[in-house]
Amino acid sequence: MRVFKFGGASVKDAAGVRNLAEIVKGCNDELFVVVSAMGKTTNAMEAIVEAYMKGDKPKLEERYEALKNYHVQIIDGLTEVGTSCIETLLQQLKAKLESEPSLNYDFEYDQIVPYGELLSTTIINAYLAADGLNTEWLDIRRYIRTDDTYRSANVNWELTSRLMKEAYVASEKRVFITQGFIASTENNLTTTLGREGSDYTGAIIAHVLDADYLAIWKDVPGVLNADPRWYPKASKIDELSYWEAIELTYYGAQVIHPKTLKPLQNKQIPLLVKSFVEPHNEGTVIKTSEQSGELLPIYVLKCNQVLISMSPKDFSFIIEESLSDIFHIFSKHRVSLNMMQTSALNFSVCADDNKYVKAAIEELQKQFDVRYNENMELVTIRHYTDAAIDEVIAGKEVVDSQVSRKTARYVLKASEWQF
Ligand code: ADP
Ligand code: ASP
Ligand code: MG
Repeated sequence: MRVFKFGGASVKDAAGVRNLAEIVKGCNDELFVVVSAMGKTTNAMEAIVEAYMKGDKPKLEERYEALKNYHVQIIDGLTEVGTSCIETLLQQLKAKLESEPSLNYDFEYDQIVPYGELLSTTIINAYLAADGLNTEWLDIRRYIRTDDTYRSANVNWELTSRLMKEAYVASEKRVFITQGFIASTENNLTTTLGREGSDYTGAIIAHVLDADYLAIWKDVPGVLNADPRWYPKASKIDELSYWEAIELTYYGAQVIHPKTLKPLQNKQIPLLVKSFVEPHNEGTVIKTSEQSGELLPIYVLKCNQVLISMSPKDFSFIIEESLSDIFHIFSKHRVSLNMMQTSALNFSVCADDNKYVKAAIEELQKQFDVRYNENMELVTIRHYTDAAIDEVIAGKEVVDSQVSRKTARYVLKASEWQF
């Protein structure tokens, strides 16, 4: 059994849906197809949630119509499918948007944003069925069960494993179409696994059903040694160990969601990163390997960073207790730290700049002297060379750095990139 995951870019229009169908038809094995919302729909859904929570009816109406029109236009490009297949979903969404919101933003987010995935999989399933494939559409919320940490839910592995296996054994179908990113609590309230979480859904399904491999289909030829949008000279890496891949996702390489690798590594299930544009090409395989030989330097850029420095108000050392308080505050505000540096009197961290980090800073200020710099970028060079470092920091203002045996990291003042 295999699991294929298709991201939003792969199904952003009718041609993308047809391309997905060709790739699915080319697989002669039992298959689970996990799909994200179409194109940039999740961003559009977030804007809908914002208008809903603010009670801004004109904006809400306008955004709902734009969402509906986008999906209808894709269906119009698939002559085999009619718009009736999404009518019920649209009615449900509309009814939700006409109801009074609760005061819990994250909860409401999880009740609305998943319509992106529900719409995309419904359309794709209708197209595959019309194209002659004997598929089964699964509502993944019945099988992937989580706690109620809305927007970043934690999987209940035991329950998920039992429910998924039962469903798989009970069905006679051999091609399943389902949603990435979404799940539900034991009480059937919808949850989400965090932005970009569909890769993780693919890994959850692969893990519990012992798949032969998980393939994630992307708009790039595989994992490259940098994001090609930033570093045009990037080239493909044919093979990576789980270890190396986890390091890269930790540093912020956006090509794979950070939670994806653990469930696969734990069962030694390979991850293939392949191009949906050139599906017959090899792509990158991530599996257990010693990774012998020299690896190319791999560059990871994280934009929109804030560098925060904390020191005790009374000139005492930064000792374990202060560190534990600091970590507790960041964790409470759901801030993940992208880089950490400590000295006797100072602890500094780099984190994504957003409202959560600002709330954490406010709380830290009660206990520590806190300084912070906005508009930073964090560049990591794994397997660095002198030439690679020069290439990245030449002409840049370096605010902080951290160099270990395999990895060099620089906090830079944001400025234009030219390679
Ligand atoms: P999906 O449609 O599956 O959500 P993403 O947009 O999340 O796909 O991931 C693919 C994008 O990741 C590519 O278009 C590329 O710009 C970016 N990317 C960042 N780092 C890398 C890397 N090291 N190798 C390949 N792509 C990368
Ligand atoms: N649709 C969700 C998002 O855009 C999940 C995903 O694409 O992986 O974040
Ligand atoms: Mg993604």
